[in-house]
Amino acid sequence: MKKFKTDLHIHSCLSPCGDLDMSPRKIVKKCREKGLDIIALCDHNSAENVAPVVRLGETLGVRVLPGMEINSREEVHSLAIFGQARQALAMQKIVYEALNGVNRPEFFGEQVRANEFDEVEGFNDRLLIGAVDLGLEEIVRAIHRLGGLCIASHVDRPSYSLLSQLGFVPPGVHLDGVEVSDPRWARGEGKGILKDLGLPVVTSSDAHFLGDIGRRVSFFLMKAPTLEEIRMALQGKSGRSVEM
Ligand SMILES: [Zn+2]
Ligand SMILES: [Zn+2]
Repeated sequence: MKKFKTDLHIHSCLSPCGDLDMSPRKIVKKCREKGLDIIALCDHNSAENVAPVVRLGETLGVRVLPGMEINSREEVHSLAIFGQARQALAMQKIVYEALNGVNRPEFFGEQVRANEFDEVEGFNDRLLIGAVDLGLEEIVRAIHRLGGLCIASHVDRPSYSLLSQLGFVPPGVHLDGVEVSDPRWARGEGKGILKDLGLPVVTSSDAHFLGDIGRRVSFFLMKAPTLEEIRMALQGKSGRSVEM
């Protein structure tokens, strides 16, 4: 077994609120600098920058899991994390079919599709910051059907979180874990709340700027940097575990 330093929530320049400096190459280089073994690229409602980041990760020695951060009809953010890019792209198709509106870059920010040489490939003009017309339950089901994991984002935040929007996990919503932005909250005032949720807890950076990458990390004790091992670690199976 090995301890993998992991940040499962990183945005790129495709997210309207993501800094334009969050280009594929700069992201992966920063991850290396920070000693990260595994990351997940989770842009808002899109996986269009996943491919170059995965490829660069392979070259530079960082395991990049393809993902996205989906904003549900209830305005709950959750991370969809997959083992393979094609699964993330299949999820993106479902999300795009339920996502309306056009981006206003001057208001929300540019949504840049970039390649592995950090060149601009184009701009996404969907309203990626918007909520998709799918309930959290449908989203989690779709993620699972495609073989991914669903982790509720930043549950300790006062907006766009499971606890701020719903206050509980509705029956039928089978999350694989919850993310906290502040591990101190998890150990302090949030301790009882998290115990009641009864779900595995991770922390990650939710980086929108290069300097934020790796500011919060979780350590996964497991055999290999794969999604299946992460699943086992979240479930505490066969000696695998996760800690903040
Ligand atoms: Zn979020
Ligand atoms: Zn985020």
